[in-house]
This record gives sequence, structure tokens and C-alpha cells, in this order.
Amino acid sequence: MSFPSHLISIVGAGPGDPELLTVKALRRIEQADMILYDALHGEEILELAGPHALKIYSGKCYQDGQYQPERQSRINSQLREYALEGKQVVRLKAGDPFIFGRGAEELEFCLSEKLNVEVIPGITAGLAAATCFHVPLTLRGINSMALFYTGHKRNDGFDDIQVVASVLKTNAPVMVYMGLKNLSALSSELIKNNVPGDVPVQIVCRAGHADQQIYSSVLSDIGAFLTHTDPPMPAIIIIGTHAKPYNPMTFKNPHF
Ligand code: SAH
Repeated sequence: MSFPSHLISIVGAGPGDPELLTVKALRRIEQADMILYDALHGEEILELAGPHALKIYSGKCYQDGQYQPERQSRINSQLREYALEGKQVVRLKAGDPFIFGRGAEELEFCLSEKLNVEVIPGITAGLAAATCFHVPLTLRGINSMALFYTGHKRNDGFDDIQVVASVLKTNAPVMVYMGLKNLSALSSELIKNNVPGDVPVQIVCRAGHADQQIYSSVLSDIGAFLTHTDPPMPAIIIIGTHAKPYNPMTFKNPHF
């Protein structure tokens, strides 16, 4: 299927392994004239673009000092400019565009400018981390939900911490994004909210990459664990009574 004309595609790139792209995402990347990409944690995906494609990095790095509203408005202008020139524009985002990815803001901009836009889902890091390491997020008869959560801490603490504690007490897992730096503090807060200290914690680093790895601990030990271990970023943290890999020795990504 060819690329509909004058279309901006906001595309979820998945966790970084090109084989975890959707077929639709792959087609859009191959046919793009211009790709505006974030920190994708995987250069191989960009290599799938055609030789004529212009690739522009627009990513934000942690504490890179960039003023974010200005960065976002630069991205928006580039999207508009290239789309109005009739270029096939792909806005490539890590994981899924709508999970902690600001995809909604970009969609809103395109709609407000009456630009032809579509959004293509991608495998979000929390799912990739769990499934690549054989950690089931739902188990029949054991849990009935799973939660995507940001470990970003505000001045007044973690968002909705009591809700997170309640979810964990139902045996459901919580996937924490952007949470490594504050993991020790988050664990203490959960224990203060009566989550048992022996609840398993998995730190899944670089899910979907050749060097993906998992570190396993429990809530009450994670602070001490992190004083002597420095897991590589990006990382997803999976917390949950049953959130344990079936076969912890399968560290290697079979796709590589
Ligand atoms: N939209 C993205 C999330 C962006 S927020 C998605 O749906 O996946 C960035 C956070 O995602 C990182 O701090 C990290 O927690 C997580 N992340 C992204 N890619 C990852 C990967 N390959 N392995 C582990 N965590 C990842």
C-alpha cells in the first residue's frame, strides 16, 4: 500500500528491535521523505529508510537543558513545513506514541492545523520488557489488571502513590517508566503504603536490544542493590507479586 499523499504519520517505533516494528510502521519508514525522530535507542530502525530520506533528530535527553515548549514548537513547525511541501513525513517515536510519548500533543497540533495525520501504534517498552523476559502481565485467576506508571517524582512526591500501592496489593503488576533514578525512593514509599517488602522487582534494561538484560530483586532490598549495581538505561521496572521471569537465564535476545 502506498503512502497517502500529504500525510504526517506519527509512528510508534517499538522498543528498538527493528523486528518489533509493525508492518505498517516499516512501510511508512521505507517510504518517508523526511523522518523526525526522537531518541530511539536503536539506529537500525533509521537504516530502514530509503536513501533519499532526510533524517532529523529532535529528541530530548534527560536534563539536556533544552527548553521543552520551545523544542516542541520547533518540532511542530518542522512537521507543518515539510507536510505542506508535499513530503511524506514520519514522526518516529520510541515505543508507543501515546504512552509517555507526547504523541497526543503532536496529534493535537496537526489537527488544529488541519494537516492530514495518522497515528500508528508501537509496542510500548513496558510490554516489550515483560514479554521479552517471559514475565506474564496477566495470569488467569490471579490478577485482573496491569498498570503503566511514571516514576518521575514531583516536589510533593510520586503521583497517585496510594493507588499504585492498592494495585500492587491486588497482585497486579506495575510497569514503571523513567523510574530508575527514583527507584529506591519509590520502593520506600510503597512499603510505607503497606506493600510487602518481599514483592519482586525486575529492572529490565534495553528491552528488545541485543544487550538487553534483567536484574531481579525485591522491594525491601532494591535500595541496597542499587548502591553496588548500575543498570544501563533505558530501563523499565516491573513490580508485582507474580512479576517474575519463568526462565531468568534467557538473557539473550534471540533476534540478534
Ligand atoms: N513512548 C515510550 C516511552 C517513552 S518514556 C514507550 O511507549 O515505550 C521513556 C522511558 O521508556 C525510559 O525512561 C524507559 O523507562 C522506557 N524505555 C524506552 N525504551 C526502552 C527499552 N528499550 N528498554 C527499557 N525501557 C525502555
